[in-house]
Amino acid sequence: MNEKYNWNFKTSYELLPEVFYKKVSPNTVKSPEIVIFNEELANELGLDSSMLKSGYGKNILAGNLGPEDEGLLSLAYAGHQFGHFTMLGDGRALLIGESKNSKGELIDIQLKGSGRTPYSRGGDGRAALGPMLREHLISEAMNALKIPTTRSLAVLKTGEKVYRENSLEGAILVRTALSYIRVGTFEYAAAMGKGEHLKQLADFAIDRHFSKVKKEENPYLEFLREVIHSQAELIARWQAVGFIHGVMNTDNTAISGETIDYGPCAFMDIYDPKTVFSSIDTFGRYSYENQPKILRWNLARLAETLIPLIDDNQDKAVSQANELLAEYDEIYLGFYYSLMRDKLGIIKASSENNKLVDDLLELMKKNKMDYTNTFVDITFNNLNESESYESEEFRQWEIRWKDILDNQDGNIELAKLKMKQSNPGIIPRNSLVERALSEVINNNDYTFYKKLLKNLLSPYEHELIDKEFKKDPVMPLKPYKTYC
Ligand code: AMP
Ligand code: MG
Ligand code: MG
Repeated sequence: MNEKYNWNFKTSYELLPEVFYKKVSPNTVKSPEIVIFNEELANELGLDSSMLKSGYGKNILAGNLGPEDEGLLSLAYAGHQFGHFTMLGDGRALLIGESKNSKGELIDIQLKGSGRTPYSRGGDGRAALGPMLREHLISEAMNALKIPTTRSLAVLKTGEKVYRENSLEGAILVRTALSYIRVGTFEYAAAMGKGEHLKQLADFAIDRHFSKVKKEENPYLEFLREVIHSQAELIARWQAVGFIHGVMNTDNTAISGETIDYGPCAFMDIYDPKTVFSSIDTFGRYSYENQPKILRWNLARLAETLIPLIDDNQDKAVSQANELLAEYDEIYLGFYYSLMRDKLGIIKASSENNKLVDDLLELMKKNKMDYTNTFVDITFNNLNESESYESEEFRQWEIRWKDILDNQDGNIELAKLKMKQSNPGIIPRNSLVERALSEVINNNDYTFYKKLLKNLLSPYEHELIDKEFKKDPVMPLKPYKTYC
């Protein structure tokens, strides 16, 4: 433990066999400059922020480390990308240490964009300022929306250029996670073909995230059950706020149940289940409505890797894993409808109540209504705000909803409070994120970025949100596109 910084430069991954990582020598960047620093997260991790913002600390955050800091690792993994299996690894990420959060959980600290690694293939290992600021903004907004996610401690400019279609300002994101073990890490272990490595990885992941399963009769089966539950809950939380990840490859599905890899992700404005933003997702594999199904597919890939650990008798292991996977739909729908009922202040799980949710979404789709703002308008009874609320169909829906609210146990005030806590008054909308980034990139002006970030950090404190962020967005003429 480095006393000064309250983190360990040597990480627990070194307990794993060396096939799982490569030690990397640090790349030095020219002139690191912190542009965003997350004081709240630094405090939560017990890190000394004034030290980190100093000359030496800044160099640590940029990966400008000396040979004595020998703990730098890039992790190996594989993954199904758009359905195709590939060997991968941290091509532009570097683990620089671990710390503990206020709950006593281990937290990985990783640099993204810090230079080439043995897994970089043709890539330069670098990142540009725009996408790193975008990840900072959206991941911190996700955390404030009560959605498990990697966090962002800082964004630094490197003082170097990166070359894409144009020459861009280089940047590094310092991000933290409960761990960077992915479904793809298990696929990597399985592909390497050594049973003992797979077992070591599974034991490592169990120790770190689900240690309670160790006392179960079949810990590996229980481990699978835990991952199914935590990932199903995660995707249900995405659906409830209209978040579209955009690249749900198995290497971007974390065992911890956190959202990882903010590339082409974006939030839906008008409710449309077929929404896709990613420029590379030509067939809509990762559209809003497909996310729960894709997760099921990804979990099946995890289950396949665990077969040898579940039972020596392969047929028995397969049938046990299949039984668990068969429960997925119900588990997912349980989480999903519970969150959606909260958005309407409805307590009881029943098919009638769930149908009320489905019918509202159908109306939103038909009338091209804004997903977030419709729920806010319902919460605050602003149902004179748009023509869509005047329609006979919507009036009928509203009567049904009020009838359920009036006749359920528990009072209306509590229901309204639940709604306020479940319906964000602000999300990182595409129009807002674009404006914030363009003012930084084109004018080096962080005013709007910081104002937007501040508002995104308290999405359920409706009174505090600036009016300009609550409006329905002006929809662009061309559909919004995102890039990896
Ligand atoms: P993603 O689609 O962002 O999940 O990335 C897929 C793989 O490409 C990961 O293994 C990344 O580490 C790698 N990668 C992405 N960008 C770069 C880059 N600029 N240089 C090297 N590797 C990269
Ligand atoms: Mg990735
Ligand atoms: Mg990415």
